[in-house]
Amino acid sequence: MLANRVSSLTPSATLAITAKARELREEGYDVIGLGAGEPDFNTPHNILEQAKKAMEQGYTKYTPSGGLLSLKKAVSAKFERDQNLHYDASEIIICTGAKHALYTLFQAVLNEGDEVLIPTPYWVSYPEQVKLAGGAPVFIKTYEENEFKITISSLQAAVTSNTKAIVLNSPSNPTGMIYTREELEMIGKFCVQHNILIISDEIYEKLVYDKYRHVSIAELSEDIKKQTIIINGVSKSHAMTGWRIGYAAGDKQIIKAMTSLASHSTSNPTSIAQYAAIEAYNGDQSVVEEMRVAFQKRLNIIYEELIKTPGITCLKPHGAFYLFPNVSKAANLAGYDTVDKWVEGLLDEAKVALVPGSGFGAPHNARLSYATSLDELGRAVERIRNFMKNRM
Ligand code: PLP
Repeated sequence: MLANRVSSLTPSATLAITAKARELREEGYDVIGLGAGEPDFNTPHNILEQAKKAMEQGYTKYTPSGGLLSLKKAVSAKFERDQNLHYDASEIIICTGAKHALYTLFQAVLNEGDEVLIPTPYWVSYPEQVKLAGGAPVFIKTYEENEFKITISSLQAAVTSNTKAIVLNSPSNPTGMIYTREELEMIGKFCVQHNILIISDEIYEKLVYDKYRHVSIAELSEDIKKQTIIINGVSKSHAMTGWRIGYAAGDKQIIKAMTSLASHSTSNPTSIAQYAAIEAYNGDQSVVEEMRVAFQKRLNIIYEELIKTPGITCLKPHGAFYLFPNVSKAANLAGYDTVDKWVEGLLDEAKVALVPGSGFGAPHNARLSYATSLDELGRAVERIRNFMKNRM
C-alpha cells in the first residue's frame, strides 16, 4: 500500500536512539540521554503567560496560512535588531517549526532532478526532505582538519548544470562549527555567480560561544540577500521546541508559493503558539542570554572532560549544543568494528545514549548533546570512561 516516495526514506537517527533509551528506562534502567536536540530549560514564563492570555481571549481560531501579521512584524523587527536586515511581511512566512519551513521551501522550489548541495556532516532531515520534493541531494564532504567547512574548490567540484540550491547551517548541527564573515562572503559570491539559491538555516543563531559571532550570509550584500532564504525559529533560542514555530524569509515569489502550499497542508501554525512567539521576540530577551551562558559553561567543562577519554578526539565547537567527537579509535580500542556498534554497546552496557554519526553522513563520529545538567553530563562522561576502561 505504500508510495514509492516513502520507501527510500531513512528514519531519523536521532529519534531511533531516543526510542531505544526510552525503552531501557521503562525497563527500570538509569539511562543518561545525550541524544536529544532540544534545550532542557522550560519555556520562559512571560511567553507562557502570553499563550494563556491568547487562549482566554479566544485567539483559538484559524489564522492566515502564512501566519499572523503581528508575528511577521515581530520577526521582521528581530531581523532589523539582530542583523540590520530588512524584510517586509510579504517576504516572511510563519511555519509549524523550522523543519516544516524547510520542507515547504523544498516543495516550492525543486523540480524533479534538481540538485541541492548539502555539506556533510549534515542535519538528518535535509537529504530526506530534498528527496521528498523530487530533488537529488549532492553531498559535499568536509573534513575535521578544515573544521568541517566547505571550500570554494569543493563547491566548484560539486556544481553541475542541475544545481539549484545549497543548504548552509551555521552554527551547525551536528558539528557546532560557525562560518566566518569572510568564508560566507566567498560562498555567497560563488552562489550569486552560479545562480544557486542559498538556504541558510540559522536556527542555532543565538547559541554562539566565547569570542565567536553569528553572521547571516544575507547581511553580506544585496545580491547575496536576494538569492538567500533564511530559515529560523524560536525552538532553540527560546526553549520552545514543542510549540512548533519557525519561519522562512526571502524572495516574495518563493514565500508566496510556500504560503499557497501551506494553505493546502497545515492551514496555519497553531494560533496560540504564534501569540507565544510574538512575546518571545517582542518581550525581554535576557533569558535567551542566560540560557546561552549556561550552555557555554557546560560546553567548556564537558569538552575538557570528554577529550581525556582514550580514543576520543574532538574539535571544540563554537555554537549550537552538541559535541561531535571522532570516536572511531575508541570503537576499535573497545573491540567494535563500527562506531554504530560502539554507540549501541555504550547504551546497552553503560546506559549512555549518544547518536551515531552515520545518520549525519559521518560514520567516524558520534553526537553528544550537552542540553542537560552539568551533573548528568559529568556522570555520563564518567560512564563513558569506565566503559572504555572495562573493555580495553
Ligand atoms: N534545523 C536544524 C539544523 C535543527 O537541528 C533543527 C532541529 O533539531 C531544525 C532545523 C528544526 O527546528 P524546529 O524545531 O523549529 O522544527
